[in-house]
Amino acid sequence: MTGSAAEQEKAVAGADFRHVSAWIFDLDNTLYRADNGVFAQIERRMTDYVMRILDLEREAAWVRQKDLYRRYGTTLNGLMQEHGCDAEDYLNFVHDIDLSSLIPDGDLAAALAALPGRRFVFTNGCRVHAARILARLEMDHLFEEVWDIRTLNFRPKPEASAYADVVAACRVDAPRAAMFDDIPRNLVPARALGMTTVWLRTDSPWVGHGPQMDIAEGDIDHETDNLSQFLHNIRTQS
Ligand SMILES: [Mg+2]
Repeated sequence: MTGSAAEQEKAVAGADFRHVSAWIFDLDNTLYRADNGVFAQIERRMTDYVMRILDLEREAAWVRQKDLYRRYGTTLNGLMQEHGCDAEDYLNFVHDIDLSSLIPDGDLAAALAALPGRRFVFTNGCRVHAARILARLEMDHLFEEVWDIRTLNFRPKPEASAYADVVAACRVDAPRAAMFDDIPRNLVPARALGMTTVWLRTDSPWVGHGPQMDIAEGDIDHETDNLSQFLHNIRTQS
């Protein structure tokens, strides 16, 4: 560990979350690790879908998919708006993946269970996929609600209106909520509402895809590459 990394970890230890009573987590690459092959399968299925619908070769479909993702916030939104794609057909197809590489993380489940207050999932994906992931991780009992792309009326993160809906549904003041996500831009609207924000650092290429957005220093309150350790270290009311 470098000196600066050591200082960062030290700064993270004991971070004060005593004001937080609503805990909002992204799903993919946040509640499970980005390098376990699960999201790589989803990305491949998204490209497969674009190949099929737009009759493109794989490389051209990949480029097209990234273009739609960047301009519309999700590939699905782009396919719906530019090609009249059926949302259910797309969501069922891209999330039809093998979860055998996903291993339950007892440490993380225990850390989540120990958080005082209510826990939620806020994903640009779909709730059927979220339910499969959470069941596989043996975490399905830990979350009160999953907000997915349908609940959000197809207004994905980082569209500000999605966050306002989520805060209203939580029935909690935004400053008493904390949000965790592996994509930094998804934290910007949360911070603007007054939530405490935590970035799950990963080495994955996906962080660089999608809508481009300036991130100010104050948008991210905390960062970590180990969610379980982070949650074990923070100060809460419990
Ligand atoms: Mg994610």
